[in-house]
Amino acid sequence: MLDADFFRRWMTATAASVDREAERLTALDSPIGDADHGSNLQRGFRAVAATLEKEAPQTPGAVLMLAGRQLISTVGGASGPLYGTLLRRTGKALGDAAEVDEQELTEALRTGVDAVMQLGGAAPGDKTMIDTLVPAVDALGESFAAARAAAEEGALATTPLQARKGRASYLGERSIGHQDPGATSSALLIAALSEAAGE
Ligand code: ADP
Ligand code: MG
Ligand code: MG
Repeated sequence: MLDADFFRRWMTATAASVDREAERLTALDSPIGDADHGSNLQRGFRAVAATLEKEAPQTPGAVLMLAGRQLISTVGGASGPLYGTLLRRTGKALGDAAEVDEQELTEALRTGVDAVMQLGGAAPGDKTMIDTLVPAVDALGESFAAARAAAEEGALATTPLQARKGRASYLGERSIGHQDPGATSSALLIAALSEAAGE
């Protein structure tokens, strides 16, 4: 079973990984964006880690809802409200249980990803974080490691796509040939989930 401590580890592992990869994320956001994705998420997840330490929420749902709120209030770009919605809606779907199982997490995460698609209007193939998150949730039913592999594959598969949502879509065909920064950071988020699970 997955308790509040597991979800805290997921968020702190994400914060550490975003810290390590911030420059790469910003570099990916340079040719097809405004070169701020790494710094946006670094600011956001540092704030998440600090808040979780200070407020010590006691259930999985409370951990993710607090993290999501923090991202929305600290990240200015498109990715803040989108990741904030992902975590808040996933947390809300987990309810106030003290522990959840992997199937409950998978279903909750699917609810969260659906909410991101509704908020941003992106579908798979639009070259966004959705191209990572949808296959990751599909594979999570199998294992955390499978979700991680599917996420990494999904992020790489955004390179040949033309962006249809977000800032990169302004470039039209010139967005082709670049890996999407948000799809890349989503792969870090899912890799951190697998890390929290020890896989
Ligand atoms: P901004 O574009 O405001 O500077 P960021 O650079 O932090 O925001 O985030 C850009 C990433 O956000 C993109 O690479 C993409 O994955 C994601 N994104 C942008 N718009 C959408 C959308 N409508 N739906 C889903 N994801 C999106
Ligand atoms: Mg940007
Ligand atoms: Mg920006």
